Amino acid sequence: MKLVFHGAAKEVGRSCIEIKTKGERYLLDAGIKFKEHGFEYPEAITNLPDIDGLLISHAHLDHTGSLPMFEHHNITCPIFCTKLTYQLTKILLRDSYKIARIKHLHPAFDKIDLKKVSKAVRYIEYDKPYKHRDLRFIFRNAGHIPGSAMMEIETEGKKIVYTGDMKMRPSLLMKGAYSNYKDVDVLIIESTYGNRTLPDREKLKERFLDYVQSIVDQKGSVVIPVFSLGRAQEILMILSERKFKVPIYYEGMCHKMQRKMITTPDKYINNQKRLQKMMTTGATHIGSPRRRMYALKQPGIFVTTSGMLQGGPVLSYIKEIWHDQRSAIFLTGYQCKRTNGRHLYEDGFVYIDGWKTYVKCAVEKFDFSGHASEEELKEFIQKVNPKTLIIQHGDPESADAIKEWAEKNTKSKCYAPIVGDEISI
Ligand SMILES: [Zn+2]
Repeated sequence: MKLVFHGAAKEVGRSCIEIKTKGERYLLDAGIKFKEHGFEYPEAITNLPDIDGLLISHAHLDHTGSLPMFEHHNITCPIFCTKLTYQLTKILLRDSYKIARIKHLHPAFDKIDLKKVSKAVRYIEYDKPYKHRDLRFIFRNAGHIPGSAMMEIETEGKKIVYTGDMKMRPSLLMKGAYSNYKDVDVLIIESTYGNRTLPDREKLKERFLDYVQSIVDQKGSVVIPVFSLGRAQEILMILSERKFKVPIYYEGMCHKMQRKMITTPDKYINNQKRLQKMMTTGATHIGSPRRRMYALKQPGIFVTTSGMLQGGPVLSYIKEIWHDQRSAIFLTGYQCKRTNGRHLYEDGFVYIDGWKTYVKCAVEKFDFSGHASEEELKEFIQKVNPKTLIIQHGDPESADAIKEWAEKNTKSKCYAPIVGDEISI
């Protein structure tokens, strides 16, 4: 059999791996990569109608954004994913289509293709064996975001484990990833944080809450930009651990996501009830610009999208507080190069309505990542102990760091492919 890497090889974005057996072809994930102006799709996939099945690890667009484009090019196979993954993917795909139209970017598909995706989806339950043609597979918890799965796949007598995006340690939102795999021939692992240690989460949480408290005590407001899926919910749950004297608000697409997360039963979400409580009594949803302006008249804690300040309601909040030295902006995740969030953190300015604005309020970054840290990845590799190790979904430095380590410390045959590479198993 052959594994072909159409994306996410020595890069983060457009995840798409093909399993090519003697008579069948399968795709693991169907992502897009965001560029400054537009998207990049997986490269060099030939004859899409010939694909026998698509397996999707989780809802983030770098794993799902190509689904409607594939439908547009007449892929006809079923799409396998967990129920929650599809519920969340649907929200993200509709939103990305809307944004592409507003920004006059060509999204490479039509609205009708979103319906075709919906018809092709087959729900998969965690930890249950499935068979489709000659492929057997089990979805396991990946610990990354609600609905996220790793895949344990068997075909032509070989066992492949594909991690998608994973986190081994539990977070407030998710239980930790499954890792009790046996007799694995090939492990395809992500390496987003392949060369970076993440701060201890408990200590990070305390530092975050203490800093929020100190801003509240000096009568300032805290604006917390978040990614709508995963990070928003975890930040709200962390905030629910303390009682603050000011109200907590949230705004943006995270509201729709949370509704799906509390109405779709999912055994790997930690504290589903606590999330529901936070949504109904702990924090207030802001649904209109008028309510936002009203809320901003008093100090408060505002959790809002987008996480890298590239758009969304967050900029309206920053417009109101940037000059107030008592207030603060707390970034909560990775900031890509040349985004507003990166400029704010590294250079102290953001673009608001096209104006370069040097902010006077405090700015701090707290990395509540949903990915495994360098040590977690190494621990996982050692536990799974595969014959062949393939490292992808990471910048070249991250993928190479894990490869170098694995060559010295394991018996696995190691690869860190680039886009277009084929590996024979
Ligand atoms: Zn992800």
